[in-house]
Amino acid sequence: MITGSPWQPATSIPVGSKARTEPAAGRRRLWRWAPAAVLTTSCAGCYMAVLLLALLPAVGVAAPLGTDAALVGFSSTSTSLIFMAYHLVWALAVLAALTTARMPPGHIPLWLYSREPGDQAYFHNVLQAVEKKLDGSLRFCRKCGAFKPDLAHHSRELGLCILCYQHWDLWSNNAIGFYNYKAYLLSLLYGVLAHGVGCALLLPGVLRAWPQADASYALLAMWMGGASSVCGFACLSLLGSAVMGGASLAWLLFHTWLIARGQTAHTFFRQCGLVGAKPPKPRQQAGRSPFDFGLRGNFARTCGKQPLLWLLPTNQGVEGNGIFFELNVSTRSSDPQGFGRYGGPG
Ligand SMILES: [Zn+2]
Repeated sequence: MITGSPWQPATSIPVGSKARTEPAAGRRRLWRWAPAAVLTTSCAGCYMAVLLLALLPAVGVAAPLGTDAALVGFSSTSTSLIFMAYHLVWALAVLAALTTARMPPGHIPLWLYSREPGDQAYFHNVLQAVEKKLDGSLRFCRKCGAFKPDLAHHSRELGLCILCYQHWDLWSNNAIGFYNYKAYLLSLLYGVLAHGVGCALLLPGVLRAWPQADASYALLAMWMGGASSVCGFACLSLLGSAVMGGASLAWLLFHTWLIARGQTAHTFFRQCGLVGAKPPKPRQQAGRSPFDFGLRGNFARTCGKQPLLWLLPTNQGVEGNGIFFELNVSTRSSDPQGFGRYGGPG
């Protein structure tokens, strides 16, 4: 807990995780980048395969792997369009992924950290909270000392509570919360598109080259060299794109389903009893979730009010601050304490 006057803002965000103070914490933080490095290397390999084996030979640029690598041929106009579209999709995918990894997901503001054991009454008056403990008290994090707004939860990896917490993302080494959720969804979307286009460009060439190559040694030839090495490289890249694109699509559809229900991934996992040692959270008893505004309303609250900006990794047009939420009509009508307000301090 932060010490000092209950009415003055604290000077720094408390660090709740002991791991951050241990000598090995630096090494652990470094190792947490390993999945991101593996993913980046895999994506770069798939991108290079499409570029070298399909796009460059098709536009008449000499391919480093030789003319045998010209697996796919297009007309010059369509090839130029595909070339530009493919790179645009990759550029947006990289931009969205970097935004997801680098943008703070949404830390609890300093004014919501507890300062004295008896300040529960103060936070009862200033914090909108539909979600409460079984005894009716506000949700308080014993690990980092923060009073939790609705949908906020503690991230073990960061040692802090995160606004609108979804889950920890292994591949970007960051928690997914209120501020980087849209960028995360776009990184999945553009990842699916980039790998889907890559598969479509590589597949015809692989099917053509496969009968002529020594299929048994195609992958081994990548290490040994030889005529089959190009086919092996194309096959491996095709497989990688199919796996990464398919997994991203499945995860994107799962999140789309959650948004349509007005639910966060963490809440869903809690209800299914999949969050550590915590007991399963009771499901919504009846009616809609107080955070469910219907399909269009939910997507507008996640991706912003301006549809033209939905496909760009920017939070412009995304309303709210992750602390106070507009609540749907059915909840507001049974909300005598006025929890349906919008806005407030912080
Ligand atoms: Zn916490």
